[in-house]
Amino acid sequence: MAKLYLDIDGVLLTSKNTRAAPGVDAFVAFVTQQFDCYWLTTHCKGDSQSALKYLSQFLLPSTLEQLKDAVHSTNWDALKTEAIELESDFYWVDDNPFQAEIARLTTRQVADRLIVVDLSRPNELFTVQTKLQESLKTPLTSFADHLTAQYGQPDSPSRMAFEEEFAAFKHEAQQH
Ligand SMILES: [Mg+2]
Repeated sequence: MAKLYLDIDGVLLTSKNTRAAPGVDAFVAFVTQQFDCYWLTTHCKGDSQSALKYLSQFLLPSTLEQLKDAVHSTNWDALKTEAIELESDFYWVDDNPFQAEIARLTTRQVADRLIVVDLSRPNELFTVQTKLQESLKTPLTSFADHLTAQYGQPDSPSRMAFEEEFAAFKHEAQQH
């Protein structure tokens, strides 16, 4: 399961006149089911309790409960990227990443894993959810990859059996 690093202010809550972000309940239900979630917010430095306490002022109890069960704590000091496992399959959802954090991701060639949220756009969390949903569908890049996924590596018995059958099928088709 891919990891998802989750900011609070400007993502789950609006940053001005703090309130629940539009669509946050559906968004939380989606991410907590589909991703291995981690807090990445100033409200959590080593302990999830302060983040949950803060969120409890704004979110529905059922949404809060899902976050409480699913989201792990992280610890970081100056940069959020300190807490990200950069070698893993991850996504990071944040409204305001620092230049130094983006630079760190760029150096490691994982800048495309950052999803910048702008809650001033309508249906923003739904848009983010759609992007994340797309990332879950690992696209097959070629017919050869498809065959490997379906029948195994080219030298494996199952793949060779398929290749033979396919060759016979093609031969037969050419006869007609
Ligand atoms: Mg933020």
